[in-house]
Amino acid sequence: MNLKEYRQKRDFKQTSEPEGEPDFTVGSHFVVQKHQARQLHYDFRLEMGGVLKSWAVPKGVPLDPGIRRLAIQVEDHPIDYIDFAGVIPVGQYGAGTVEIWDRGDFKLDREEPDHLEFTLIGEKLSGDYALIHTRSKNWLLIKRKARAE
Ligand code: MN
Repeated sequence: MNLKEYRQKRDFKQTSEPEGEPDFTVGSHFVVQKHQARQLHYDFRLEMGGVLKSWAVPKGVPLDPGIRRLAIQVEDHPIDYIDFAGVIPVGQYGAGTVEIWDRGDFKLDREEPDHLEFTLIGEKLSGDYALIHTRSKNWLLIKRKARAE
């Protein structure tokens, strides 16, 4: 996987964010980082293929079934980023504060280029979710209704 765009956007002498290497050794974790940048958003990241697949969700990850939220895909982040919280200095890409809003494990239930389904097991988030690609970098993040057994 490719961290080139991630690295190009950042000066690692200035920011304490991890430079990172692709890491294929770990399990399937997710994180939601509350990012108070110029615009508050929540960065939703899934560990897939040695990187964190990442989306910026302006209104946050839905807690209730049937709610759909715009999720804008952003560059892949290194796995190390899952632990990042802190201040990105003024003048750097994404300047502002990052805090971990939720984290945990996920199980991938369906993986297609434009459609992911997964089950989140976090502190705040749990249950079945889908990410559906609409156009360009836009996806919809949806909490699915619990499936009937
Ligand atoms: Mn962000």
